[in-house]
Amino acid sequence: MLIHLKKDILLEEAKKIADELKAVLIEKDEIVLVTPSKLQELPAHLQSKVSLAVAVPNDIQLASRKYKDEVRSIKFSNFEIGGESNSTVMISGPCSVETEEQIEQAAKFCLEQGVKVLRAGCYKPRTSPYSFQGLGLEGLKLLAKMREKYGLHIITEVRDASHIEEVIEYADIIQIGAKAMYDQGILRRCGKARKPILLKRGFGSTLQEFVQAAEFILSGGNDQVILCERGIRTFETNTRFTLDLCGISFLKENTNLPIILDPSHAMGYAYGVADLSRACVAMGVEGLLIESHPRPKEAWSDAAQQLDFKQFAALNASLKAVANAVGRQMT
Ligand code: PEP
Ligand code: MN
Repeated sequence: MLIHLKKDILLEEAKKIADELKAVLIEKDEIVLVTPSKLQELPAHLQSKVSLAVAVPNDIQLASRKYKDEVRSIKFSNFEIGGESNSTVMISGPCSVETEEQIEQAAKFCLEQGVKVLRAGCYKPRTSPYSFQGLGLEGLKLLAKMREKYGLHIITEVRDASHIEEVIEYADIIQIGAKAMYDQGILRRCGKARKPILLKRGFGSTLQEFVQAAEFILSGGNDQVILCERGIRTFETNTRFTLDLCGISFLKENTNLPIILDPSHAMGYAYGVADLSRACVAMGVEGLLIESHPRPKEAWSDAAQQLDFKQFAALNASLKAVANAVGRQMT
């Protein structure tokens, strides 16, 4: 149950009520208690202290449509994802920051294409310890330079707790990757951050587990969470993963969090990314994340799936009509 306490309740008293109800206390402009979802009725003696109580049937609570029947608006700098804008935001850039020349080419290309959010990883969660692991802090500094020079917003991922403070400091949006979705240390620290978090779905996790991971961030007090579907593992091996568009319908119906779709990691091969991207935009989601690279064949990670600039430009030009057909616009 979600309980908004009346504004005149003192923090000490709120803490006592939270203890009694075994609730998580979120202190913002008003105090909100989130109890285990087993509690379905407000105890009578608390009625006078509460301005709003919402019972939800399971532990999708702060993210649920029952609590907030609208898509949350994620605002940073002069930019918005979600809310009532009916916009589908394009996020693009290479898998990894490799060199200054490479990331600068990518940044300039984004600018030319009207893409306002540049993505690239600096701490890469690779499957093998012998693959390129990312440039680390040097990469974050190069991204900051691109933001400064080209006025782009920067999204980059946190791989583990060792560099989380650096990523929070440098990024405009902090990405939690599929492999880190269950990392409680990262989730809890991001709950205390005051920047938007893009949470990717673990490729072996259910929708319920995915949204519950988002609840860790939300219940930490950070209400700026974006969900990202990037493909799940199925029995199929011809594509890298399977993009769960049924899951997107579930998330739209049941959660109030903006949704970004990532067809690049799902497909794993550049040839499928354009068709999938159009399907994603037709789903009426808040954003798309597409990997692009000046020379994909030479990329230091995810070489097979990144679009070259010609492929990206053709795709980008085709998306406006798809977005318009479902009452949205690309930004
Ligand atoms: C990425 O965005 O480059 C990435 C590693 O994604 P995922 O966590 O979805 O594999
Ligand atoms: Mn990648």
